Amino acid sequence: MNYQNTLDFAQKQDQEDVLQHFREKFHLPTQLHKQVIYFCGNSLGLQPKNVRSYIEKELTLWQDYAVEGHFVGDHPWMDYHKALKKPMTTIFGAKAHELTVMNSLTVNLHLMMATFYRPTATRYKILMEAGAFPSDQYAMESQAKLHGFDYEDAVVEIAPREGEHTIRTEDIITTIEQLGNSLALVMFSGVNYYTGQVFDMPAITKAGHNTGAYVGFDLAHAAGNVALKLHEWDIDFAVWCSYKYLNSSPGGVSGVFIHEKNATNTSLPRLAGWWGHNEERRFLMERGFQAEPNVDGWQLSNAQVLLQAAHLASLEIFAEAGMPNLIAKSKNLTSFLEFVIQEVTKEAHFPIEIITPNEARGCQLSLHVPQEGKKLFDYLHQNGVIGDWREPNSIRIAPVPLYNSFEDVFRFGQILQEAITKLQAPLRST
Ligand SMILES: *Cc1c(COP(=O)(O)O)cnc(C)c1O
Repeated sequence: MNYQNTLDFAQKQDQEDVLQHFREKFHLPTQLHKQVIYFCGNSLGLQPKNVRSYIEKELTLWQDYAVEGHFVGDHPWMDYHKALKKPMTTIFGAKAHELTVMNSLTVNLHLMMATFYRPTATRYKILMEAGAFPSDQYAMESQAKLHGFDYEDAVVEIAPREGEHTIRTEDIITTIEQLGNSLALVMFSGVNYYTGQVFDMPAITKAGHNTGAYVGFDLAHAAGNVALKLHEWDIDFAVWCSYKYLNSSPGGVSGVFIHEKNATNTSLPRLAGWWGHNEERRFLMERGFQAEPNVDGWQLSNAQVLLQAAHLASLEIFAEAGMPNLIAKSKNLTSFLEFVIQEVTKEAHFPIEIITPNEARGCQLSLHVPQEGKKLFDYLHQNGVIGDWREPNSIRIAPVPLYNSFEDVFRFGQILQEAITKLQAPLRST
């Protein structure tokens, strides 16, 4: 594609965009600035307009039917979580009985560790990426300690090479091979939250399995952002939150994938609750846990209906848009953003480096701004660009294909240009 940094070009792209009308399905924030450019769907997705009616429907059922709401309506609360399975299958490349929603992300990470981190005296190491999201780091640290291991010894982190920002797949594979029999679990993110790097999930999974380890992924920044084939890639388990690209309300319900080869194994150890018990016998209230022979066997509690209603509303928009369309637009939109940033910075001699790898990314670009980064970010923010700042020197910008436009990207470029001109003015006058 031959991109041009002009309003005409951007508007023409928008006219040709098959997903253009999806923007109208979302509330763009009105109280932040007169005109916002919302590039923060990697942190909190916008509110789909249909969410209110989905939640109101359940509130009305609660009002009118109270406890009987468990058995009435299109989606009786008793099995509410089951309504979400099908629309998730295409987003995750998984079978319905491998997917469920429950709890929140870090809780689910710990629940998965209870099953998939079963260290022995010799096989006890966890491999993760250096600079993983802090909650994941703390989860792994506390798991290692809970099992009586020294954190520094048990949790191995793999970092980028000196002078590089992202981790090479070959280095990950070599480290896995070196850890060999000592490796109990490979626990990576699908997309690193800071750099936006998409990890080679199938290659990592294969290498982990070759050593006899389990392999799991935290897909917080991958879910709804990049193409996933969790079943085919043979991943043991994955967890994610629904409030980032999946637009399903702040603190919204978390998702879990457990590969059917594990999920159907009812003898796998786990932390159990009544919503994971054999459905036929759940209300017999008897002693002795019998796991459901699928991912539901890891559920603890009855459905969090209001959060799941918000999630269902959003998943139905994903189903309508279709992941292939979303991925195609995402690639185009993010490449346009990359082009615009390069155009704006190439003459300016203002150091901005895109550290997100071109060949392995979703929609997010992470900009490394070694000097005056915070000032640049503040200028953008004051002028309506909602991205986010990550210490010490990065700005994350995520044009989301469901609701962002090429015109958003063009306008962002204009504001970036102004910001750079402004920051350079005092330099020039001295
Ligand atoms: C956003 C995010 C979290 C947040 O965890 P919560 O339990 O939902 O607060 C955890 N891990 C990763 C990788 C994330 O990106």
